[in-house]
Amino acid sequence: MFAAPVGSSVLTFEDARRVIEEQAALIRSNMPASGTESVELLAAAGRVLAEPVAADRDLPPFARSTRDGYAVRSADLIHLPATLEWVAEIKAGETLDRIPANIGSEQTASIMTGAPVPAGADAVVMVEYTSQHGQRVEITRSVVSGENIVPRGAEAREGSLLLDRGLRLNEAGIALAASVGKIRLQVCKRPRVAVLTTGDEIVEVSATPGPTQIRNSNSYSLAAQIQRAGGEPLLLPVAPDEPQGLRRLIEEGLKADLLLMTGGVSMGRYDLVEQALAELQAEFFFTGAKIQPGRPVVFGRGGAGALGRERRATYFFGLPGNPVSTMVTFELFTRPILEALAGQSPRKLVFLHARLKSEIHVKTGLKRFLPAILSGEFEHSEVEIVAWQGSGDIAATARANCYIVFPANRESISAGEWVAVMKSNC
Ligand code: AMP
Ligand code: MG
Repeated sequence: MFAAPVGSSVLTFEDARRVIEEQAALIRSNMPASGTESVELLAAAGRVLAEPVAADRDLPPFARSTRDGYAVRSADLIHLPATLEWVAEIKAGETLDRIPANIGSEQTASIMTGAPVPAGADAVVMVEYTSQHGQRVEITRSVVSGENIVPRGAEAREGSLLLDRGLRLNEAGIALAASVGKIRLQVCKRPRVAVLTTGDEIVEVSATPGPTQIRNSNSYSLAAQIQRAGGEPLLLPVAPDEPQGLRRLIEEGLKADLLLMTGGVSMGRYDLVEQALAELQAEFFFTGAKIQPGRPVVFGRGGAGALGRERRATYFFGLPGNPVSTMVTFELFTRPILEALAGQSPRKLVFLHARLKSEIHVKTGLKRFLPAILSGEFEHSEVEIVAWQGSGDIAATARANCYIVFPANRESISAGEWVAVMKSNC
């Protein structure tokens, strides 16, 4: 007998994505689920910040010259060329006692990039427009007040928020934390993501497969995607296409912060994942999306039967077993949930655009994510689908570096048209 259907709800891609974003926002409002830890500054790169970082002093801490040149009163340069009296040289890091207390009218001080602008001066003239002869400096270009100076506190005021909780730290975030003296940062712990692959034909990578057996590759593509999205993968043994064994492993997986299953969610006689989850009183948000590859994707939360009351219900995905479907549905649907569990603030999915190299024809009705190669250089981007044998073709996908996003209502796109592109690593 075929598995009894679980009140099927197949959504458009956009609706399915909305459901995901709503759940991600809910998760984030109760965060952090997996706790926080303190790490050294550099180890925080790529991690999600769990503490606010504030300015420990004004940034910049003094009015900073952005040029090598001469600090002047702009009003002295109305008539050109102007000749001013040289009174000091101020280099970057100059101690306070060596900086003149005031630059008077008709006076100037030579100043270096990054040095503090002395009181009295309100602009810096670039060295290119000056010539110095002993104590006299001739200037051939006027400046407006404030030119080539960043005022004290213009970038941030002491005590103001620089980096907020939920930010995934890139190099600029790390630099900012460094600039305010943070040698350690409090970051969110990585959520543990259980990966459960199903199928009687699937064997471990180290096994010698029989003539009709397939090595488990999905657990590894998923583990790589989980790590990149900020999670810690936990690979469970391969589940058989048999209800008891499958159920036992699903219950095991639901103890993690998130459970990803691959395979067993299509309409085949042995596709038992939905059934097993339904028996555990799982809640289903959707049981399919109008996309290709990846149509049978399942998203839900549960199952109370397996967990008792002390823990909140675990989100799960039943991702289709076809390897490219698994990778695509992770990027489209799993990633936001995982990022939310990792403490990261939600963000929208945005596609880039590139010009299509050769015409594509497809059937309408499904939004398609076709493995493709993005090439070109600088402002000239172009993209072309890779020849593939459908959503089981890992080799074709490994040659690709992005997916072309093909709208559900178009039958063809001509060469030279702009198309949406999803980079596989962003
Ligand atoms: P299913 O979703 O279970 O119907 O599987 C669809 C296709 O994906 C079948 O050809 C499976 O053999 C293949 N497949 C399922 N799980 C994996 C896996 N873990 N690694 C590689 N291929 C898989
Ligand atoms: Mg299967």
